Amino acid sequence: MYSPFKMWNWTTICAKKYACLRTTIRFSSVANPKVCIVGSGPAGFYTAQHLIKNEPNLEIDMFEKLPVPFGLVRYGVAPDHADVKNVINTFTSIAKSGRLQFIGNVTIGKDVTLNDLRTAYDVVVLAYGAAQDRWLGIPGENLKNVVSARKFVGWYNGLPEESSLEFDSNVETAVIIGQGNVALDIARILLTPIEILKKTDIAQHALQALKESRIKNVKLVGRRGPLQVAFTIKELREMIKLPYVSNRIHIEDRDYIEACIPKTPRPRRRLTELMLQSADTKQEEVKDSSKQWELIFHRTPLEIVKSENQRSVKNLVVGVNRLKGDNWENLQIEDTGLRERIPCGMIIKSIGYKSLPLSDELPFDHIKGVIRQKEGRVEGMPGVFCSGWVASGPVGVIASTLQSGHDVGKRILEDLRKGNFATSTVKPGRDVILSQLAARGVEPVTFVEWETLDNEERERGKNQEKPREKIIDVKEMIDIAKKTQS
Ligand code: FAD
Repeated sequence: MYSPFKMWNWTTICAKKYACLRTTIRFSSVANPKVCIVGSGPAGFYTAQHLIKNEPNLEIDMFEKLPVPFGLVRYGVAPDHADVKNVINTFTSIAKSGRLQFIGNVTIGKDVTLNDLRTAYDVVVLAYGAAQDRWLGIPGENLKNVVSARKFVGWYNGLPEESSLEFDSNVETAVIIGQGNVALDIARILLTPIEILKKTDIAQHALQALKESRIKNVKLVGRRGPLQVAFTIKELREMIKLPYVSNRIHIEDRDYIEACIPKTPRPRRRLTELMLQSADTKQEEVKDSSKQWELIFHRTPLEIVKSENQRSVKNLVVGVNRLKGDNWENLQIEDTGLRERIPCGMIIKSIGYKSLPLSDELPFDHIKGVIRQKEGRVEGMPGVFCSGWVASGPVGVIASTLQSGHDVGKRILEDLRKGNFATSTVKPGRDVILSQLAARGVEPVTFVEWETLDNEERERGKNQEKPREKIIDVKEMIDIAKKTQS
């Protein structure tokens, strides 16, 4: 029978053999420090990549709460952004380098505590992302058909915990609050013809629901102006090029924007020029457009008003803003006192993600929703580091997470080499954690087992001409993973 332990032992042997080939022992106290990484998203993998590349004398384990790796690359990146997901190939090479053990289906903070990890490993890297919602704090936010972008994205990407998200798409207008790339991803998924979506790895339940959806107007509402949008030009171009979809970009202060353009950096200049140009394009030229999206600026959401049946959404009340100040980058929002109602049947809040502490003793900034740290070193916890969104907040793309992961990797090696934290006792590493998991009835999933599941998803996708059909039930995932042959 296949035993994951066989593989773990094998890899440990490889790492030790490799370590023996080295002529210098770099660490003053322990020959093979043990490192664990919590989270298998980009931050976790890029931290591991730096460590593996620059130091052969480390044993590295990666814990992941789901039975599958890759974090938001699998469950955040839009299904029609297949090229972005190619980064999974790099992560797979890291996982299969023989230098890292993926240990999936283990939730740190529940199955194993941070303290357990600190006792077992010399270094703990927290890279568990930002998987909580931010709240607007306005009346009506709890109404049916008001959903967070995080849940909605998780729903169409097949995230197990959001696969049964309930909302009513039997409405014509959806408002998205927020003007970042996630907001544009959602607008695009709502408006893209099904013929295109069905060739992506979108979850089957989402494809079916979007097929039946009546949503044909999507309004993206932001508090600031065109010069301050958080989305990037690639995503705007994709929106503009959507087949059978027209757009309305409401530019209220064109003279001011045109005056500012020369002062902006090139990417912002090109983005703003594209918005102005699209605002000028006669939309009658968009043939057969049955759907539409709008960019609405200078509006602060104030209240969500419920429909007559008291259960859903009727409109979004917004305050009209003006922006004050000399610097386009740093303008203050001022309420004009004017109020408007934007009629809609559904609201998606795309106002950012945040993290939660996975243990009480973890120093945490609850307002920013991030771990308190300096250059990736967690405050007051020698040997504990953090990287990616749990450290920086939900900003930046995968490339920025690469930088964060590599920087943290550098700090870890610096500290280990300087002997900055206690590594004098030999830590037991994964064996003790695996025993604890076994005693607690938790069944970890290895990378080889994930590959069995991966193959099954790809096979199921073939029947439907999709790159894969994601399995969304955790029990089914584990059952398939455990069919792995040794
Ligand atoms: P994550 O990717 O969230 O990884 C964290 C991992 O930790 C997850 O696997 C999670 O399951 C695991 N975890 C959480 N809690 C625990 C626990 N207690 N125990 C064990 N494991 C745990 N960037 C691009 O470059 N291009 C794009 O097209 C793009 N699209 C995006 C779309 C959306 C909707 C979002 C939200 C982001 C997008 N990004 C994109 C940004 C990119 O996804 C992030 O920069 C990156 O994923 C952050 O990496 P991370 O490792 O910090 O977090």
